[in-house]
Amino acid sequence: MIGHIVRRLIVVAAVAVLAVSAAHDTAAAWGYQGHKVVGSIADRLLKDTNAGRKVGEILGTDLRTAGPWMDCLKAVRRDDNDNYAYTIDPEHLEYEVPCTKFKTPELRDEMVAFVKRNWFTCTYLPDGVHQRGCHETYHFDDVALQRGRFDRAFAGTNPHDLVAAINAAVAVLQGKPAPPPFAIASKREALFMLAHFLGDLHQPLHVGSVYLDAAGGRIDPDAAHPADPATETAGANFIQDENINLHREWDDIPTDLGEAATRELLADARSQPATPGSLDDWPAAWASDSITVAQQAFAGLTFTPGGAQRWTVTFDDHATYLRAQDAIKRKQLAKAGAHLAELLKAIWP
Ligand SMILES: [Zn+2]
Repeated sequence: MIGHIVRRLIVVAAVAVLAVSAAHDTAAAWGYQGHKVVGSIADRLLKDTNAGRKVGEILGTDLRTAGPWMDCLKAVRRDDNDNYAYTIDPEHLEYEVPCTKFKTPELRDEMVAFVKRNWFTCTYLPDGVHQRGCHETYHFDDVALQRGRFDRAFAGTNPHDLVAAINAAVAVLQGKPAPPPFAIASKREALFMLAHFLGDLHQPLHVGSVYLDAAGGRIDPDAAHPADPATETAGANFIQDENINLHREWDDIPTDLGEAATRELLADARSQPATPGSLDDWPAAWASDSITVAQQAFAGLTFTPGGAQRWTVTFDDHATYLRAQDAIKRKQLAKAGAHLAELLKAIWP
């Protein structure tokens, strides 16, 4: 399964230039199939609701189609003359599959405008040299498993991380200005963001991360300030498992799910409990939940240096791990769809 996307690194402007050595274009939050499934669950849950009508009015399409939009933005490149253009990579035509719905000139212009506006709003130098668009940081956090919950004070978070991006999009949909560094020009853009980022928020390796020393031993990045960038696994993008990195392995969804809500996922989504507390606190609470899930995702794993990435993973019991992984993915997709619908209903009761 093809997961498009380019991912991340903790963006610590002060250390980024020195710190980060290897370029890493890797898969991101759920393959596009996962984002479509999450959107599809929410579409079904919002059928005949005020929020569902609002989504249709604003997007002119459904959440299932909108889900991959934030990843499609990664095709927008900036050249040395400060020109931005949507550029199809002939080496990776598969990246275009979920993006063909946005291929008219007007829709491409809309993507270019968003990227241009959100490029230099933070420093993002994943290879230590080339600035990438700040918008690419909106997709993730890298909170250490040891924390067990989300807090902006922890290593692996920043003011333009996944939780901040969701809160910013919610603010815009509530008619408030987008908090900096987010440059969100319309409710339509904000809705494209939520349609995607609720999926990312429930991929456990998009929120929780393991940090390793050179020998593959687990370390606590919050014990040293600042954390040593050489210990980052970038949500396990730097950890190889046979022919795929561990992050990508978690992005891929069980193939029997296809690209839309199944009866089982819908039933699970409908059984999710209502989220307590204030809407403003929901994204952080859901991130905390994903960190506890990430603890399970990294249980029974051992790491050794080297291989195709900085580290290679081995499993205490691979068959058991794969079964648990499959079950976790299904659960998280259902939760993501339920929470996307819950959020939009709270915004448009
Ligand atoms: Zn993403």
